Amino acid sequence: MPALNNSTLKAELGRSTWKLLHTIMARFPEKPTENEKEALRSYVYLFSRLYPCGECATEFQKILEKYPPQVSSREAASQWMCAIHNIVNKRLKKEQFDCGQIADKYKCGCDDEKNSTTTSLNF
Ligand code: FAD
Repeated sequence: MPALNNSTLKAELGRSTWKLLHTIMARFPEKPTENEKEALRSYVYLFSRLYPCGECATEFQKILEKYPPQVSSREAASQWMCAIHNIVNKRLKKEQFDCGQIADKYKCGCDDEKNSTTTSLNF
């Protein structure tokens, strides 16, 4: 099998990563504790330092300076992540995603998903 070229690998990594990020936001508690809010904020900033595509990480850090993570609720976090992805989409000349559809799109098949509107995650 021929090796994938760099842009194909970068795109593949991007797709998997966006899926993970959006799914984390979709599963974030509706009413997070201060500890959970801090966990998500830290996760996003650590992610922005460690993401393996250097150019992507640098650009993402610039976006975070302007639009810091919104961690007050699941809705706030999901909408924030969607808006951030749209900023990246715009820079890469990709289509804008309708953030009104976000709640239906990201499901993880996790056992407790049906209760996830009322239960908190344990970080
Ligand atoms: P993706 O953008 O990967 O999206 C995957 C799927 O998510 C789409 O098919 C759609 O169903 C859904 N989606 C699209 N927009 C949204 C949204 N706003 N909210 C929710 N769901 C949505 N690549 C570069 O070349 N340069 C960069 O600087 C760069 N920076 C990146 C920064 C980050 C933080 C990440 C995670 C990725 C970055 N990438 C970058 C990769 C790039 O964003 C894409 O992932 C890659 O180009 C593949 O694009 P795609 O068209 O398959 O869809």
